[in-house]
Amino acid sequence: MKIKQPRHFLLASDFDQTLSHNDSGLVLSELLGVPDFEHKVAGLARSHLVQQGGELAYLIRHDPAFRGVRREHLIEAGRRVRLKGALRAFVEFLERGVDGHRFSFYVVSAAPREVVVSALDGIVPSENIFGTELDFDPQSGEVRAIDSVRAGYGKVAVIDELEQRLGITSDRVIYVGDGSSDIHVMLHVNNGDGFTIAVSENRQLARIARSTVLSDSASSVLVPVLDQVLGLRPAHIRELLESEGLVLDEWQRDRTDRVMIREFRESLIAQVARAGAGVEVPA
Ligand SMILES: [Mg+2]
Repeated sequence: MKIKQPRHFLLASDFDQTLSHNDSGLVLSELLGVPDFEHKVAGLARSHLVQQGGELAYLIRHDPAFRGVRREHLIEAGRRVRLKGALRAFVEFLERGVDGHRFSFYVVSAAPREVVVSALDGIVPSENIFGTELDFDPQSGEVRAIDSVRAGYGKVAVIDELEQRLGITSDRVIYVGDGSSDIHVMLHVNNGDGFTIAVSENRQLARIARSTVLSDSASSVLVPVLDQVLGLRPAHIRELLESEGLVLDEWQRDRTDRVMIREFRESLIAQVARAGAGVEVPA
């Protein structure tokens, strides 16, 4: 008898405004009291000096206003980032897999790796997170170099490396992103017959992505994955989400899916966490 191997997919996701609501660069500049962050980024983007999405890394290294950045600030900024809803349920769903399909989930972000690891602490293991790598001076704690920027082509390099490491062919790659730092990687994934999902109305990106899904919930990405990649029926998709504690309240199926997902477990988990440790739980 032949044993059927599960089909193995790589699902890679951007972080800023894909898994989170706010940009980590903005959170960090507020923490440090650096004014005009958005203005600085817009100026850099216009000049095309750095890869799109790599502006924060450049500013940290070269803008005197960011001179004071230390590792602790990055970790604290991560704690202040507001995550999208049902992120834990999304990650757990992928870990379990579905109907003979399994997923390896990775986060690939242009933000400093420390920020992303801190924001996703307890949800995504740090070895599954690729971010921009900064080199800190052991004496002063200052950033003395940028080792690797995971923006633009930097994201393509990570996807290539993961395909090799996991032994996954390019048609089993799914990439999720929201912004201009994701253009290169989405073109690359499409080119390899993989699947791309935009989670914003960014016009450049929506033209490139195979699917667009708009929602406040991180788990909404499961809808185009189950629908268009796995080809499951809508009733089955609802059932699968419900088994994970997720209720698909609304699903306008169009070129752009508009999805509302409610999580009936989260309120309980949030209450317990608040009562237990006095920590702030993202709304
Ligand atoms: Mg982003």
